[in-house]
Amino acid sequence: MTSRKMAIFAVVALLTCLATLVGAQGPPAYDLLIRSVRILDGTGAPWFRGDLAIRGDTITATGHVPAGEARIVIDGRGQVVAPGFIDIHTHARRGILQVPTADNYTRQGVTTLIEGPDGSSPIPLAPFLAGIAAARPSANFGTFIGQGSVRESVMGNVDRKATPAELEQMTRLVRDGMTEGAFGLSTGLFYTPGSYTPTEEIVVLARAAGALGGIHVSHMRDEATKVTDSVRETIRIGEEGGLPTQVTHHKIIGNENWGKSAETLRLVEEARTRGVDVTIDQYPYTASSTSISAALMPKWALEGSQQDVVKRLADPAQRERIKQAVVSMLAHERGGGDPSRVSISSCRWDPSLAGKNLAEITRGFGMEPTLENAAEAAMQIVQRGGAQGIFHAISEEDLQRILRFPLTMIASDGEVPIFGKESPHPRSYGTFVRVLGVYVREKQVLRLEEAVRKMTSLPAMRLGLPDRGILRPGMKADLVLFDPQRVRDTATFENPHQYAEGILLVVVNGQVIFDGKDMTAARPGRILYGPAFRAAQ
Ligand SMILES: [Zn+2]
Repeated sequence: MTSRKMAIFAVVALLTCLATLVGAQGPPAYDLLIRSVRILDGTGAPWFRGDLAIRGDTITATGHVPAGEARIVIDGRGQVVAPGFIDIHTHARRGILQVPTADNYTRQGVTTLIEGPDGSSPIPLAPFLAGIAAARPSANFGTFIGQGSVRESVMGNVDRKATPAELEQMTRLVRDGMTEGAFGLSTGLFYTPGSYTPTEEIVVLARAAGALGGIHVSHMRDEATKVTDSVRETIRIGEEGGLPTQVTHHKIIGNENWGKSAETLRLVEEARTRGVDVTIDQYPYTASSTSISAALMPKWALEGSQQDVVKRLADPAQRERIKQAVVSMLAHERGGGDPSRVSISSCRWDPSLAGKNLAEITRGFGMEPTLENAAEAAMQIVQRGGAQGIFHAISEEDLQRILRFPLTMIASDGEVPIFGKESPHPRSYGTFVRVLGVYVREKQVLRLEEAVRKMTSLPAMRLGLPDRGILRPGMKADLVLFDPQRVRDTATFENPHQYAEGILLVVVNGQVIFDGKDMTAARPGRILYGPAFRAAQ
């Protein structure tokens, strides 16, 4: 069946049933009844055929549902219904206030967005979450508290140890974040000021978050040459901090490091064997995305403000030192050994650079695109105000090895783009459906049930969400109906603003937010609060 036909059938079904409602006697037994579907419950168990009934915001029955009046009946036509996908690593605050429906996520079946990753979150959290709630998002929304943001607000962007008083103040901010609703502490030790933070200091904050039921999630210090050391550090934070710990968007950067995932996964297994609760999340692409300065500049050169950075670049001796480091990053790490493997996704001071690669930009600056000249071009970009980039330097083999690992969940690391604007990483539009289309159906790296588990019950368990991530009576009615033969990503690096295909229906808290063709008017997303906030209620 074509996607248009499928969409129309869903809409027609909705209309038909709205019509039956008018003539119904008494209150209907169900608000929404999806008939004749393959129910994939999110636990990894095999799908089974049946119906699924919802009353209010809650699943009331799965399997054989006795006939009864329903306000809306949808014929699922044997397609697959699964729990709505939970994205444990998003930068959704980039865009969610402009696009509260987060169409790029909704149209993939994502029903919960978790923010505050990579050590970066608003501080304090309460007004931030209130602002999101006021925007009435379609999907549910939760957050971490970011260690980098905490440190920056107390100490600034400085490369030194914290004083005892500063550490006390940071600990208090982490506790506040937890009581305001965070699910735990995120770190971004790759970014300043996280990169200036000794492990011992992180452990103190992790302990504070863990004591309030939180977890630790880390964009690690190094995902390239020292990736195994970084995994050890992430494990150590969990072990000494006494809380679950997660390697976020796990990848191996730089072709000289490819293959190291065998070692990193072994470290995770060993840690679990001795009782450390370590898990992983990942996006299914062989390119990463972050700022040009974070990816290519040495950390020492990024201390302080943009003005400080510019001042260092203006000093000939320091500029030469920086340049050597950038050349090395281009040759061995994010640059993938070739400036054409780096492209610009967005640039405030020159939006026309979006979509161009660093070789083209180097030529545009009047230079041959050698590594040296590309480093020169990258430094000029940083001097002029920086840009976001995309870096093709990950191997398919590592990607698949990490994906097959049973403790790896799926997360986008994406944002909420303004449709058609800039040239974002396609992960924002395609992560979840790419796993279903490419890695389940085409490459058969995962069984469908296993892939869905990685998107639903596994992140729900990790976050401690007691009532989502599994299709079972009593659970909240977040779900996605899709065609496993057709589901796929269409967003590419060249053409990222393209929605998923094969998603037939998306429901959040019992309300249809996407009917297979269009977003509906319903905006039922809720703020989801972490354990310390819930305990205080
Ligand atoms: Zn990150």
